[in-house]
Amino acid sequence: MYRETAEELLGFIAKSPTCFHAVAAMKEILKAEGCTELREEDRWSLEKGGKYYVTRNDSALIAFAVPKEEAKGYRIMASHSDSPTFKIKENPEMEAEGKYVKLNVECYGGMICAPWFDRPLSVAGRVVVKENGEIVSKLVNVDRDLLMIPNLAIHMNRTVNDGYKFNAQKDMLPLYGMGSAKGTFMKTVAEAAGIKEEDILGHDLFLYNRQEGAIWGAENEFVSSARLDDLQCAFSSLKGFLAGKKEKYIAVHCVLDNEEVGSGTKQGAASTFLHDVLVRINSGLGHDYEDYLRKLAGSFMVSADNAHAVHPNYAEKADPVNRPCMNEGIVIKYSANQKYCTDGVSAAVFKDLCRKAEVPFQIFTNRSDILGGSTLGNISTTQVALSAVDIGLAQLAMHSPYETAGVKDTAYLVKAAEMLFE
Ligand code: ZN
Repeated sequence: MYRETAEELLGFIAKSPTCFHAVAAMKEILKAEGCTELREEDRWSLEKGGKYYVTRNDSALIAFAVPKEEAKGYRIMASHSDSPTFKIKENPEMEAEGKYVKLNVECYGGMICAPWFDRPLSVAGRVVVKENGEIVSKLVNVDRDLLMIPNLAIHMNRTVNDGYKFNAQKDMLPLYGMGSAKGTFMKTVAEAAGIKEEDILGHDLFLYNRQEGAIWGAENEFVSSARLDDLQCAFSSLKGFLAGKKEKYIAVHCVLDNEEVGSGTKQGAASTFLHDVLVRINSGLGHDYEDYLRKLAGSFMVSADNAHAVHPNYAEKADPVNRPCMNEGIVIKYSANQKYCTDGVSAAVFKDLCRKAEVPFQIFTNRSDILGGSTLGNISTTQVALSAVDIGLAQLAMHSPYETAGVKDTAYLVKAAEMLFE
């Protein structure tokens, strides 16, 4: 069961080279499961027993199911669709030596730079065109080995193994072709999207790692892939949403964008997207704002974003007592400064839920002298104030283009999500 779920996860990630593709892949699954697509620009009239989904910017998605009986409140699992990568700048082609063409890129989020070198990369995202008088966006994936960021030979940088400071404008530009490739990059993108180059009015294009996911280790206990943070949680949340009974609460599967750059966009956790959808579910069922606030008071949110496992080579980086490991269950994250929204009450609710689901859990806190990361939970609760817990799956090499997690843990989170959604 564990391996099957891990393989299914790798299939989902392979279909999701960017946040836009992840949302499209989820839409496809939700549609096949009989969920109805809603648009933010339409008036919603909802039915009890109905299952729906809505997207914003094609990069964030909220799916929800309304129980047949009057709901007690909302049960939400929130994760994110984006991962650190490099964004292709406007007018990306740059010449080198008059012989090569490379691309001008900039950082999206905080990545580990070194593993981006010397491996086949390609480009995916969306292009925006005018069709029948309307601006429409189209998914694009140049589905072949297209680019590489070559390292400098050690003979020209003898101290490279003593630590190296990467400069995003100098070191990280991918090689695209020989001089004859000049002027062809956007044409290549247009062809992959099935459109003409001159029709492209806008684009959001990102690099992605071409290496496929792998299950490995002495007993196949590890799973490695690009974008485990946070597609592992997004995928588990979706599976749990589909499997849950959804009889007492309005089940909400929420995947937001731009977590890696601080969430402060119209489709991020700091936006009103989740709030707007919850309010509209309430009014779409014929209730007033007072009802919404009453429902919210009885609601619960799980913010699901991957967590750091103790690293076998860097044991000293972890808290002396709370030391999560891969394959040992869902990680509940705590931070006194409320970088994580877990508190005594929400932790208790979640632990109880894990026990009922017969799923192991473990604890993460930062070492008291190390500043940790943050996630979408505490940002989201400024828009939708409700009891919430921060959790994740233990992984290594967070923000590398090839991350490593435990084979068992995806299935654990699926089970917990199923229990959350009753
Ligand atoms: Zn994350």
